[in-house]
Amino acid sequence: MEGLRDETGIFAISGSLQAAQLTVLGLRGLQHRGARGAGIAASDGHMIRAVQGHGRAEDIFSGRDLSVLRAASALGQVWGGGERADEAEVEAQVVANYPFVGRWKDGQIAVAMVGRFANGVTLRRELTASGALFSTLSDGELLLHLMARSGQQTMVNRLVDALWKVEGAFSVVLMTEDLVVAVRDPRGFRSLWAGQIGSAVGVATEDTALRLVGASELRELQPGEMLILDASGPTVVRPLKRRAISRCTMEATALAAHEATVFGKPVYPLRVKLGERLAAEAPVRADVVLGLPGSSLPAALGFSRISGVPFHAGIERTPWSDPLAPVPSGDAELVWRTVPAVVKGKRVVLVLSTLGDGQDVRRIVQLLRSTGATEVHLRVTQPALVAKCPYGVSSPTREELIAGPGTSAEGLADVLSAESVLCLERDALRPLLGGSDGPGFCEGCLGGAWPVAVETLDDQLGLFDAE
Ligand code: SF4
Repeated sequence: MEGLRDETGIFAISGSLQAAQLTVLGLRGLQHRGARGAGIAASDGHMIRAVQGHGRAEDIFSGRDLSVLRAASALGQVWGGGERADEAEVEAQVVANYPFVGRWKDGQIAVAMVGRFANGVTLRRELTASGALFSTLSDGELLLHLMARSGQQTMVNRLVDALWKVEGAFSVVLMTEDLVVAVRDPRGFRSLWAGQIGSAVGVATEDTALRLVGASELRELQPGEMLILDASGPTVVRPLKRRAISRCTMEATALAAHEATVFGKPVYPLRVKLGERLAAEAPVRADVVLGLPGSSLPAALGFSRISGVPFHAGIERTPWSDPLAPVPSGDAELVWRTVPAVVKGKRVVLVLSTLGDGQDVRRIVQLLRSTGATEVHLRVTQPALVAKCPYGVSSPTREELIAGPGTSAEGLADVLSAESVLCLERDALRPLLGGSDGPGFCEGCLGGAWPVAVETLDDQLGLFDAE
């Protein structure tokens, strides 16, 4: 995932006395989306307790006596974040502290959330002007403020009332002492799945996490659907205004795990097809096709299949590098190693799923050359990122991105010191993405239209960029 700095993932369960333990396991199944921190909140029916920390879920929660979190329901979140110290600090305020736990007149409430409100800056300003105090930049905190001020009587109605005021990308799970509610935004930016875990019901950003805890009868919530889990069992309602669908392209192409199903389609065959189309659109004379471990590999296989150029495992991560950690700025050899028997004296095609700030790619191209590659051609299964995502995916700033509107393929090849760089265009990508419930994908960061106007875009992005 060159240039993407990961995302977040949420997991929740209602109706199991192992809720806290299963949530930790579910979070481990989401850590490819972010491994900088994790937290869980659990309710025993009377009280919500929370545990949060930095690092991987297994490190945060191992050695802890989770029986103190004896619970019938629980929710949790993993998060990633930026690499620069200032960015990491700001993003920590945006995504850390999840699950966000608050107390109000009716008791306790916890919220976990994937995404970002496009009108969050305006709402926050309005609330602070009327006396609200915020301790973080988290939209979860903003949501709780909106709920607390709602004139509705029930918790579910307060949540619906609050969600009518927000715009943007959000998958939210909310928990009180005796209730769990999950909702996917009406535009369907990100996936949200539900499944049966014995007599309990689980919810997760990816179906993979639910499978990890043994869930069955998996079902992807439709855009705008809300799943209510209480003593009377599960109820599905659709209380939000219908909107034009705008699924996150990046989820399908790069963020979700290979084994996931996103927007009604399994990710792996989609990525193979992207590679096949790329080979047809941007052929090159070469001796070997390589793919970076991760979302690029199926695309590299597809590229090889159509081009007839053999695929080899010629580049892999060093055993001592952490696949969940951001690639540090240092020697590429500390993170990647190349196989001389595959690369030396060869014209190499390296297939990528994303092209962001180009830092990793530039180092990998140099590494391939130092291993003896005679030519290095880059093929990317979607356009290079030209803008930072304002809807919750942590990505490079406009200044850091290697491409901008109008950057030529030759310009990219120059900057990356490659013989050629070609990316699959949006027009070619779009029909392959499809979607079980019709067309409609967000392409904002890829140079397409922004599906939701981000009010005061610069301010909103500034929240990520350290004002
Ligand atoms: S801007 Fe890019 S990363 Fe953000 S939601 Fe749209 S497609 Fe996804």
